[in-house]
Amino acid sequence: MSVPVIALDGPGGSGKGTIAGLLAGRLGWHLLDSGALYRVLAQAAQRHAVALDDEAALAVLARELDVRFVVQPGDEQQVLLEGDDVTRIIRTETAGAGASQVAALPAVREALLQRQRDFCQSPGLVADGRDMGTVVFTGAPLKIYLTASAEERATRRYRQLLGKGEDANLASLLEEIIARDARDMNRSVAPLKPADDAIIVDSTQMSIEQVLETVEQAARERG
Ligand code: C5P
Repeated sequence: MSVPVIALDGPGGSGKGTIAGLLAGRLGWHLLDSGALYRVLAQAAQRHAVALDDEAALAVLARELDVRFVVQPGDEQQVLLEGDDVTRIIRTETAGAGASQVAALPAVREALLQRQRDFCQSPGLVADGRDMGTVVFTGAPLKIYLTASAEERATRRYRQLLGKGEDANLASLLEEIIARDARDMNRSVAPLKPADDAIIVDSTQMSIEQVLETVEQAARERG
């Protein structure tokens, strides 16, 4: 029997990560945070002095990437690069921009493909990213494209940063989100877009609970 996959794609700040984590927890399924792989790769590039546009060197780095995701009960996943905890550092806006840069390179995406597919293990997988439904898990029985307006996503990120006691500027967050969307949607390889058979959920006016309920309902209908 094939392992069921829920593919959850959408732009940054749409709430995918939160929804994917909650869903995986409720179902008792594995979780793939594919964005974290690109973020860790950008971090590894900095560590090994590899330029973010050196496609060949980045592809080698991607293939050899020593990354581990440690699931912590009731907490977010801990991300280890070469044994070092990089959970926090890969979440910065700079790391996100670096991830989006390396993610635009075809050889890098190819190098990370099998690694992502390896997450597909019994009893099931919730996969969060930009191309889960369009490239990595095209056969997933349930594909969700979760989106929200850029303004709403910037506001969420702003509140999140303030909540953590960090400095934040709403206007520059909005600018970064718009720039990252443009890069992710307009790249030649695996551009961000809904799969033809994806259910589109606009979370602009929805709470996390409402989104979760919508996705769970869709899972029951398609499952
Ligand atoms: O989801 P997250 O914001 O962590 O992703 C960081 C960046 O990694 C995205 O802006 C995107 O460029 C890239 N990414 C991707 N494909 C994925 C997941 C993330 O290109 N499946």
